[in-house]
Amino acid sequence: MMGVALPSFEVPVVKGTSGVLALMHDKATELPEQACIRCGHCLEACPVRLMPCDMAWLARHDQFDALQNHDLFDCIECGSCSYVCPSHIPLVQYFRYGKLSIQAQGRERRKAELAKVRTQAREDRLAREKAERERKKLEMKAKASSLAAARATAAAADKPTPAPELQSSVPVTAALDPLEDVVVEPGTDKASRAAAARARMARAKGVAARAVAERQAANQQPDQPSETTL
Ligand code: SF4
Ligand code: SF4
Repeated sequence: MMGVALPSFEVPVVKGTSGVLALMHDKATELPEQACIRCGHCLEACPVRLMPCDMAWLARHDQFDALQNHDLFDCIECGSCSYVCPSHIPLVQYFRYGKLSIQAQGRERRKAELAKVRTQAREDRLAREKAERERKKLEMKAKASSLAAARATAAAADKPTPAPELQSSVPVTAALDPLEDVVVEPGTDKASRAAAARARMARAKGVAARAVAERQAANQQPDQPSETTL
């Protein structure tokens, strides 16, 4: 009474095959299904004390939750109820249909839950990555501003200060002695060297002017009295 009908002889015999039953044609003929007459024969034949007639009705109307509550999965599919049913109702086939439908619903439910978990994990990961990007952007901004401040400080420190003699109101030519040489210390900055060059030029001009003045003074001296004759 257990087992399924095979569509052809091209079926292998596997480990779970307990037997092959060959029926005569008149015994294997599938009789048309009729309405349940509530005779109760299926209840008496069930070794697990189930209610095959009610379970078949629930499976036919896709009432799978109620079918599970009628202990569908306790059915061992022995086929006793189908064998004794006078209405030729394929009770076992209804129970198999109900079991496979419930299992398929469970798979779909688990798949949906897994997809929901994965979607939530993806959203969490994207949020973490966005927060990380924002944090790195802020860090780079802070580094750039500190670097700019350091460069501005360094530029201000490298700017040459005016030479003290340029700040004086006294002209360079007047402040320098023409006979005194201008000495430039090694390591002085550009402004100091320029001031020293201007001082040398002023000294040279002073020396030249004094030479001209001395020459003019010599030319203006009176002639020496000539030798008198007695
Ligand atoms: S097939 Fe299931 S419901 Fe029918 S008699 Fe066997 S155990 Fe009971
Ligand atoms: S044996 Fe068939 S007809 Fe009788 S109660 Fe069960 S399902 Fe209905």
